[in-house]
Amino acid sequence: TDPGAIRNFCIIAHIDHGKSTLADRMLQLTEVVDARQMRAQYLDRMDIERERGITIKSQAVRMPWTVREGERTGESAVLNMIDTPGHVDFTYEVSRSLAACEGAILLVDAAQGIEAQTLANLYLAMENDLQIIPVLNKIDLPAAQPEKYAEELAHLIGCEPEDCLKVSGKTGAGVAHLLDEVVRQLPAPKGDADAPARAMIFDSVYDIYRGVVTYIRVIDGKIEARDRIKMMSTGAVHELLEIGVISPEMLKGPALGVGEVGYLITGVKDVRQSRVGDTVTINARPAREALGGYKDPRPMVYSGLYPIDGSDYPALREALDKLKLNDAALVYEPESSAALGFGFRCGFLGLLHLEIIQERLEREFGLDLISTAPNVVYRVQIEGGDEVTVTNPSEFPAGKIASIWEPTVRATILAPNDYVGAVMELCQGRRGQLKGMDYLSSERVELRYTLPLAEIIYDFFDQLKSRTKGYASLDYEPSGEQESDLVKVDILLHGDPVDAFSAIVHKDKAYNYGVTIASKLQKLIPRQQFEVPIQAAIGSRIIARETIRAIRKDVLAKCYGGDISRKRKLLEKQKEGKKRMKMVGRVEVPQEAFIAALNTS
Ligand code: GDP
Ligand code: MG
Repeated sequence: TDPGAIRNFCIIAHIDHGKSTLADRMLQLTEVVDARQMRAQYLDRMDIERERGITIKSQAVRMPWTVREGERTGESAVLNMIDTPGHVDFTYEVSRSLAACEGAILLVDAAQGIEAQTLANLYLAMENDLQIIPVLNKIDLPAAQPEKYAEELAHLIGCEPEDCLKVSGKTGAGVAHLLDEVVRQLPAPKGDADAPARAMIFDSVYDIYRGVVTYIRVIDGKIEARDRIKMMSTGAVHELLEIGVISPEMLKGPALGVGEVGYLITGVKDVRQSRVGDTVTINARPAREALGGYKDPRPMVYSGLYPIDGSDYPALREALDKLKLNDAALVYEPESSAALGFGFRCGFLGLLHLEIIQERLEREFGLDLISTAPNVVYRVQIEGGDEVTVTNPSEFPAGKIASIWEPTVRATILAPNDYVGAVMELCQGRRGQLKGMDYLSSERVELRYTLPLAEIIYDFFDQLKSRTKGYASLDYEPSGEQESDLVKVDILLHGDPVDAFSAIVHKDKAYNYGVTIASKLQKLIPRQQFEVPIQAAIGSRIIARETIRAIRKDVLAKCYGGDISRKRKLLEKQKEGKKRMKMVGRVEVPQEAFIAALNTS
């Protein structure tokens, strides 16, 4: 294809503003998918995405389009629509998808206006120098206020309100005109056709039949079906089995040239060998320099995953091994816990990523799991010694600590004017630092905060929603780390630490954490033959204490003089219960108690 006819674009929008629905209309209008094949949200392929209505993995579709009206009527173009994941955990993937485009459709719900994700994605698009087409969606809704939000949008990106297009993904109104504008307004890709080939990987997925399918955008040169390709980050060389475009299914072709978007298959079995952000070149005539922007995926949040039934441990390992094939960001290693038995310490990009993995393990592999409270990664400088990276609070170094560093995020929060106070109060309580505040209109405010990641992963979003009656929206991205006054709090049962409840918290919050967990366990752990203290401690200093009083009478005393079968039943029940008991020091605790304590925390 002549690069001059190509337009590579993505749609950026806040969740639920109608991106998938609009994409569906485009697929229909360009006749890439006919009405018979059409199903809602055609591009959201994974089940879990359909059910949650979110896009996790990005996809790309090639759509032929001939300009229908106005200037350049009759001009034929090839549109590549690249779908981006819509959630903050996947910021890096989003940035790579954007880097594969020349332009972006900025889609805003005409009944809602701009939201936090609209802004965060717009900033990313601007950093990648994309041309922006502002579009108001859902104009069919009675509550739509396209004029009002056109003002807001125009103010934000510095255009005239009349430049904002108005569409309805539901009825299809304005969508053909939008496609015409994509051809007219967005620049065609530029690249050096004679240079050694360079293509950027913006996604890779594992397919059980085909192995890893890698999505690429060619920047320079040409990749042909018979080439041997080379991954520039690792130097690994692979035989090319197939190359082609997606429209909307994979269509094998002879080559991909400058500006083209498509897929390649090499027979590798693990997405780690085909990483998002990496540069593909040709082994026979390799490019000298890789394209910029490659980053290794780095887990931001860790949690222990344990099978509720200990005999499921091998099945859990097998399931994680399978999921890893399709997820370069998932890391795990075996760990054991006195409270929970054998499991795995797993690293995730964020909370949604954790939830998705846990849900897939439970749903696709039929496992019953318990996860420990998620924690971030800390860097600990030991006095006069080494630096250690802590991914599990129970492994916090015991020696004298010189400094502790924790990851931070740059958060963008959008809220109606009336709730600014409530948002600020929440952020201050979470150790946030206000970095800036802007009025988008007379009634909507953008607040920018730096916050510790650890403070965001505990119900921050829920709190934000409830304090603003659901009107605030949030987006965030990693922004380095900061030194903080953090301590490890241990929970001791009869003098022995219960590893699953150790936590690293800010000094000012240590007492609160200790009291909450201690009183929870006090209610959940049954009485024993002896008195059991539950303590919260920082090092050797006790900061909170609860007591489980001893049982006075034998259980059987209840059946005094009673019938023998009832007595036997009771004994059997006791025996059965014992099987699921965990010994923490001298104390017998039913695993359920730990699970319950973790679940409600
Ligand atoms: P996404 O999260 O941005 O992909 O949004 P979806 O495409 O999944 O749409 C979110 C919701 O808005 C769904 O219930 C859609 O049916 C609805 N929706 C999307 N576009 C329109 C539209 O143009 N008009 C109306 N009335 N509803 C729409
Ligand atoms: Mg969607």
